[in-house]
Amino acid sequence: MGVNKEDNELELYNYTAHELRDMLTSKKVSVPEIAKSYIDRIKQVESKVDAYVTVLDEKEIIKNAQEVQKGFDSGDEMPALAGIPMAIKDNMCIKGILTTCSSKMLNNFIPPYDATVIKKLKNQKTVLLGRANMDEFAMGASTENSAFKKTKNPWDLGCVPGGSSGGSVASVSADEAVFALGSDTGGSIRQPSSLCGVVGLKPTYGAVSRFGLIAFASSLDQIGPVTKDVTDCALVLNAITGYDSSDSTSVNMVHPDYSKALINDIKGLKIGLPKEYFGEGINEEVKKSVLEASEVLKKQGAELGEVSMPMAEYALPAYYLISSAEASSNLARFDGVKYGYRAEKYSGLIDLYKQSRSEGFGPEVKRRIMLGTYALSAGYYDAYYKKALQVKTLIKRAFDEIFEKYDLIMIPTSPTTAFKFGEKSEDPLSMYLADICTVSVNIAGLPGISIPCGFDSKGLPIGFQLIGKAFDEITMLRAAYTYEQNSGIPIRKPNL
Ligand code: GLN
Repeated sequence: MGVNKEDNELELYNYTAHELRDMLTSKKVSVPEIAKSYIDRIKQVESKVDAYVTVLDEKEIIKNAQEVQKGFDSGDEMPALAGIPMAIKDNMCIKGILTTCSSKMLNNFIPPYDATVIKKLKNQKTVLLGRANMDEFAMGASTENSAFKKTKNPWDLGCVPGGSSGGSVASVSADEAVFALGSDTGGSIRQPSSLCGVVGLKPTYGAVSRFGLIAFASSLDQIGPVTKDVTDCALVLNAITGYDSSDSTSVNMVHPDYSKALINDIKGLKIGLPKEYFGEGINEEVKKSVLEASEVLKKQGAELGEVSMPMAEYALPAYYLISSAEASSNLARFDGVKYGYRAEKYSGLIDLYKQSRSEGFGPEVKRRIMLGTYALSAGYYDAYYKKALQVKTLIKRAFDEIFEKYDLIMIPTSPTTAFKFGEKSEDPLSMYLADICTVSVNIAGLPGISIPCGFDSKGLPIGFQLIGKAFDEITMLRAAYTYEQNSGIPIRKPNL
């Protein structure tokens, strides 16, 4: 169960990035003090939560923090996220730092370069705390597929945090980082954010560079922020978006200043609620809470309307075909030769591949590779992969039609609140259903955000999702911010 916190009871590690920034600017705190507060917090709760695969050496964190403090001391103009401690999902390359994808296959991989998002955050002078745990190669919805450890949900240590960015999300939820980056291929930022009571945003495909993100399904993957509130979400989005010539799918455009979205006004905004996402398979308490959240938006002047997306039921099968097909191709590079894990015993080259891949990959990754290879094979390509691509086109069209009349779409983020360890891990299909509300957004390349909107009767967080038009994150953030300002939900922290 959580605890409600008044402003005067907050510890340094409870604050958001923008609050800490104000405190840094007015010299109420220093960057090393903030870093120390997080180091101590990690020492205090990490053994319960297991959010991190790697926590950086304490001395190194403090040294980096001192370096940033010098900028504040000498009155330099400091970037918005300067001195803010963060966690990065373990599938984004950081030069010189172990990057494992939570897989035995990469348990010794130290990248020789930075992912573009990392370069951007280094320019922001953020302070890296560590690498967040995840489902192996981002395949999963509970973080139980990590080869190293099971991350716990800070709100109930017997429950999963969701996945695949479970470590990123748990680190923010447990106040072991101010913000984190996750990646979202079919819901991996939004679904765990909903299950752990934090804000998580998947940007429009092409808004954030994928260069240096270890690929799962290249046509769906996007990196995005996990934060304690909507304001921080806009600040992190400002820091990571932008054109990158190293990513051929990066869109060359000028991004707006997303903090301009932080206005408490949504009068006249049209929000569509597709009935398919409020029916069978959606837990009653979740449904009730999301509908209550929609009433808050209505009270603020939004116009709500029921819409229909009959294609919704085909999104999940199409997603699992497309993502597995792409994964089977992307993961072919892990062969025990160039980098990563190599089997000790083998006879000849083919056996080296076979043994290294058999020993290096876990069961879920193998399942996806087999499924994807099958869907792409000559005799079945038309029946499965091509069909899935046709469904993708229809889903995009369905969104386009709704967006002719509406500015945003609102649905639950996850069909249920957090589930127990082991509840779904033995049955892949039931685990895949955890993504029922999120995958269509990736298929259509749209932006989506999950915002906390309350708790169920067990005290577990519930989130709702807003989906925007392509590259219209600004409208999505405006509605999210307006909700946050008017929801009346007090600051509540997990009781760790
Ligand atoms: N849970 C989904 C899957 O297992 C989504 C994963 C993701 O977004 N990385 O494919």
